[in-house]
Amino acid sequence: MKTALSQLDVVRPRNLDHALRLLHESLGEERLVPLAGGTDLFVYLHAGTLGAKRFLDLAPLNELAGVRAGKDGLAVGAMTTFDAIARHRACADWPMLPQAARVVGAAQIQNRATIGGNVANASPAGDSLPVLLAYDAAVRLASVRGERTLPFAELYTGYRQLAMEPDELITGFVLPPRTPGAHERFRKVGTRAAQSISKVVFAGVLHSWRGGVDLARFAWGSVAPTPVRSRAAEHALLGRPASPDVARDAVNALSRDLSPIDDIRSDAGYRAAVANALLAQFLATAHRSFRSR
Ligand SMILES: Cc1cc2nc3c(=O)[nH]c(=O)nc-3n(C[C@H](O)[C@H](O)[C@H](O)COP(=O)(O)OP(=O)(O)OC[C@H]3O[C@@H](n4cnc5c(N)ncnc54)[C@H](O)[C@@H]3O)c2cc1C
Repeated sequence: MKTALSQLDVVRPRNLDHALRLLHESLGEERLVPLAGGTDLFVYLHAGTLGAKRFLDLAPLNELAGVRAGKDGLAVGAMTTFDAIARHRACADWPMLPQAARVVGAAQIQNRATIGGNVANASPAGDSLPVLLAYDAAVRLASVRGERTLPFAELYTGYRQLAMEPDELITGFVLPPRTPGAHERFRKVGTRAAQSISKVVFAGVLHSWRGGVDLARFAWGSVAPTPVRSRAAEHALLGRPASPDVARDAVNALSRDLSPIDDIRSDAGYRAAVANALLAQFLATAHRSFRSR
């Protein structure tokens, strides 16, 4: 049954410190649920699957919004919307980020949905997750005890399980400087171009130096309980020349990395076939681009 909105309580903090204190204090009673753009939470409220009645509005926290590029890389606040990411000039230097932002839902969703909400919601189909993994990003977390930074690769401990304390907020993400000359590509496969939850998401970074691959990071969504790197496929490439034979070895190794399932959006066999095709295509394009240099 739909949740009646009149029964809900939304608390508006003055700033981040206030928000963290309110969140911490609420653990003794009913935990406040952080509310960002609401594009996931309102779906759960509409479906009546969210028991929570008290929410912590993150909208007033200007500290959590915005993008800044510096020598440490790109800092993206948790409350930055996908529309802002798609438009921000600095994000263009990490091209898979705006590419993913432009295919989250459609314009209406991109105007409200935040990257922090996408990550905290922890759906294996979340489009920004493989991008953060492929760029080897870090997650910034804050609580009344202070701040800490966690490699994005360590954030998910199981299906929709995060290595976060109940009174922590995600404040943002840091994407390290990119490797010059690396080949990168984001791909989302769904039923249509917009308003489509992914059947397979791929974000890949490959770099070759003096004839041998020295960097390979392939991250996947919708093919395992959490976003995953395909380590076996990556290892099949490292130290070897980017050639069609080596690419075949990497694609063959992929089945050891992914564990797709059948669900309402797709089936395991289709997802595995699509993943193989995406990697083969990515490696063929990378190979051509390295040869033309
Ligand atoms: C029609 C439609 C289409 C969609 N299409 C896509 C799509 O194509 N691809 C895709 O990836 N997603 C899609 N989504 C899902 C959704 O838009 C994203 O997951 C969105 O990024 C969530 O962000 P939000 O700001 O709306 O989060 P909210 O709904 O406000 O929150 C989501 C969860 O994150 C928690 N949370 C939010 N911010 C923080 C924070 N800073 N710290 C700690 N916890 C936090 C909340 O408590 C909640 O549990 C779609 C949703 C709809 C309704």
